[in-house]
Formats: sequence, structure tokens, C-alpha cells
Amino acid sequence: MKGLNYFQVIYSLFVFGLIFLPGTIMAAENSNIADVHLHYTWDQQGETSPQDAIKILKKNNVVFGIVSGTPPELALELSNQTDGWLKAIFSPYLTPAHRMDWFADKNVVTRARTGLKSGQYHGIGEVHLIAGLGPRLTNPVLTGLIDLAIEYDVPFLVHIETSSYKYFLPLCKKYSKARFLLAHAGGLLDAENISALMQACNNVWVEFSARDSLRYIDSAIVDDKGRLLPGWLALIKRYPNRFMIGSDPVWPVDNRHQWDTPDTGWLKVDEYLAFHRTWLSYLPEKLARRIRLENARGLFRDRGK
Ligand SMILES: [Zn+2]
Repeated sequence: MKGLNYFQVIYSLFVFGLIFLPGTIMAAENSNIADVHLHYTWDQQGETSPQDAIKILKKNNVVFGIVSGTPPELALELSNQTDGWLKAIFSPYLTPAHRMDWFADKNVVTRARTGLKSGQYHGIGEVHLIAGLGPRLTNPVLTGLIDLAIEYDVPFLVHIETSSYKYFLPLCKKYSKARFLLAHAGGLLDAENISALMQACNNVWVEFSARDSLRYIDSAIVDDKGRLLPGWLALIKRYPNRFMIGSDPVWPVDNRHQWDTPDTGWLKVDEYLAFHRTWLSYLPEKLARRIRLENARGLFRDRGK
């Protein structure tokens, strides 16, 4: 075959660049992701420094994130290292022991108000509501926090454990001005329950943190190829602007009761996010981009850089 002359080489490089360069740039953008469920807690500090946590997020192309801390100020150790792409939200768990009885401490609302007023926090959560265990949905600390979220117009990240969406209905109906972000695609709630809840309350957004197969072993959201199951797929297509993802760096899963073992969740973030990337890769790009990035920015009113 005859060799290419100088002009043919230049022309070929030009055409090659036109075809492949935009593809490369698009591929890089496609990997940008928002993680709306990060924790930095007292029992993670020994395993992962704030600097290492930021490195882990950057390595995973996390360009927008939401972090809470126990105690709440720990979240700032991460968010303050960024130019605003990582936002802290105020956790009501003022001490490690608070997770079980925060709703009995009126000081929580006062502290949350101070935090939001400072401008350093951009939401409230994660708040656990466990049906039958507490708090009651009329608990003044809980309702005080929701009122604050409305007053400061920030999202309220909530983890509910119940078998029916009807448990949460009185709250999202009564506080129609609050913007609730439901963690873990509703914890124990299946796609049908989430669908009913989203239909009843248009102030509920939903995220898929911790729904990876490492943790939700018994109620997978994907098939054996890693594709979203039909019920969930139909749901995100029905509400394309109301779903997002997160990693929820907690490991081992039941570590909350093991005071002597550190939480190594940050070392699992690569795996948690890889799980989400797989099912997102099967979606049409426009829909994937909303769930991967744009919906989170919209909910937290972030314009990006
Ligand atoms: Zn949770």
C-alpha cells in the first residue's frame, strides 16, 4: 500500500481529532458524579483522614457531594477543604450516643439553628425515623428540625424504616413546603411503595445510597448483569428529576453498635460508586446524567463551577 504524504497525514490527524476528541471529553464528563450521602464520623477519623476522604472522592470523579458528621462539626473538616463542591448538612447526632435518643434533646434544634445561621450547613440530616421505635412523628425535636429546614429552605435527608409508605405520608403532607430527600430508596420500601409516596407528595426526592449488592443483599435493585430492575426503571423514568445516588460510606454494615471497631466505610467508596455507575451505564445518557449529577445540584441549589 502506498504511504501517506504529509498533507494526508495532517488531514487524517485533523479528522481523527474531530471524531475522537469530543468523545474523550464527553467520556470524562460522563464520569462526573454527585454523591448526596456521605458521612464523616468520630469512628472513621482513625481510618481515614479528612484529606484522604477528599482524595477518595476526587479519584471517583465526585464533583458534587453532601456530607454529614457525628458530631456535626466533623462534616466541616471535609467541606472546608473544597471550594464549595462538597456541602455539609447538619446532623442532629451531637454525640456518638445520640443516634438513639436525639429526639429527646431540645438542644438539638437550638444547635441546628446556629449551624444553619452560620451558613456552613446546607441541609439537615441524616435523620433516622424507625417505625415503632421512634421518634413519634409529632415529636417536637423532629418537627422543630423540619420547621428549620423550611425556614432556611434547605433539604431534609431522612432515613425511614417501615414496610409501608403510609408511615411517612402525614409528614410530607403536613410539611408540604419542606423538601425531603429519602435515603436508600426508602430503606425497606419497595418500588411500589416509593412510587405511591412520590405520587402523593411532590416534595419527596429519593436517593439510592446503600442499595448496592454489598449491603442490601436480600432486596436487590439490579439483575445479575447489574441492570436496574424493571419496577425501579419504570419509576425513575416516571420521575426523572427526583432520583439521585450516594455511597453512604459505612462498613461493616452493623457497626453502629460495635463501639470497639472502627468504621472503614470510606475504604469501600470505590466499590459503592462502581455499583451505581454500572446500572447508570445502561440508561439513556440524558436520564443517566440527571440521576448521576443534575438532580442533586438542583435539589441543593448548586450551580456548579
Ligand atoms: Zn441511612
